[in-house]
Amino acid sequence: MKILVINSGSSSIKYQLLDMEDESVLVSGLVERIGEEQGSLINKAHPGTERQMVVNLEQPIPDHGVGLQMVIDLITQGESAVCSKDEISAVGHRVVAGGPFNASLIITDDLWPALTETERLAPLHNPANLGGAKDATRLFPGVPQILVFDTAFHQTMPSHAYMYAIPYEYYEKDRIRRYGAHGTSHKYVAGECARLLGKPLEETNLITIHMGNGASMAAVKNGLCVDTSMGLTPLEGLVMGTRSGDVDPAVHNYLAVNRGLDVAAIDNILHKESGLKGLCGMNDMRDIHAAIGKGDERAKLALAVQTYRSRKYIGAYMAVLGRVDGVVFTAGIGENDDVVRAKTIEGLEPFGMKINQEANAVRSKDPRKISTDDSPVSIWVIPTNEELAIARETLALVAG
Ligand code: ADP
Repeated sequence: MKILVINSGSSSIKYQLLDMEDESVLVSGLVERIGEEQGSLINKAHPGTERQMVVNLEQPIPDHGVGLQMVIDLITQGESAVCSKDEISAVGHRVVAGGPFNASLIITDDLWPALTETERLAPLHNPANLGGAKDATRLFPGVPQILVFDTAFHQTMPSHAYMYAIPYEYYEKDRIRRYGAHGTSHKYVAGECARLLGKPLEETNLITIHMGNGASMAAVKNGLCVDTSMGLTPLEGLVMGTRSGDVDPAVHNYLAVNRGLDVAAIDNILHKESGLKGLCGMNDMRDIHAAIGKGDERAKLALAVQTYRSRKYIGAYMAVLGRVDGVVFTAGIGENDDVVRAKTIEGLEPFGMKINQEANAVRSKDPRKISTDDSPVSIWVIPTNEELAIARETLALVAG
């Protein structure tokens, strides 16, 4: 069975076609700058193999529907074709915010009003994610369209973890609560870690750390999420590339009074001008390391704040879980940055987390253990694979 996985952004479409017989990737690609004067499309058939064929197009791509049609043509026609259109059995879509939806679902017409309601929870992402699903419904008539929500894995959080201590009516009337994000990634690496530990997931307690441009942590108890660092929106929690993570909520009023800024301007600062970028002017960890190498004190501070915040959350989640079997690092920084990993775990030896510096320094695309053999808590680097996770969810739903 062949499954197309789509991640529609505000001006982009990231996609993969997978053959679920062996979970191989038949096609991967990226459409960018949709709606701009000049759009681009890179399509790789049989990526990373000897048969790899790359098509690189530069042309105006007025909207997502046109972009998706171009993708379908490349996948099914001409030199880059890997299958016929009717061989694509289902399409899986990434959706950032699921609101009340606690599991992946097959789209039916009656769901649209409730789905549209979720858009206000992630105004930067959900309209594009759901728009992609609408385009695909039109372009693949009769083919099941599956939505996989980034928040679904976190829906098992107990109410004491997801409630904010604000007047209850804001939960009842406005649905303000903690939803989390990156759930597809947390779920995937949790499953992989349990497999590597040789333990049933239902008996495994983990702390999973997704650290990329966006960053979040999850406490996983007996395979289920019991807490996560992102909240109503993906702004809460860890220090991110340009997002502040936790700040005193009174910052809003303070800035409004002292700087005369309105709420939208403050929100923009916390989302786009804060985090690592706010502290040192750079939001890519590679640039920050290079700057630290040249003695940049602000870059050093940014790294210190980022790793300290993560360590603090690990401590909190140890308290939440009681017993921790494993800690997992994933995503751009988590998979590639041994310095961040080491500094995050620094000082946690008394709590049973002993990093193996040699193993930690190894660069690899494979899952690997980076703790010492006598470390009571094992520490792992497990590359995330959200596309595969979405394809598996999609397969599970269409297979019934
Ligand atoms: P996104 O949240 O956009 O999906 P990614 O998971 O791709 O982010 O992570 C991107 C971030 O990963 C970059 O901003 C950079 O900070 C970090 N990163 C990527 N490669 C490396 C590397 N080799 N060393 C350190 N950091 C890296």
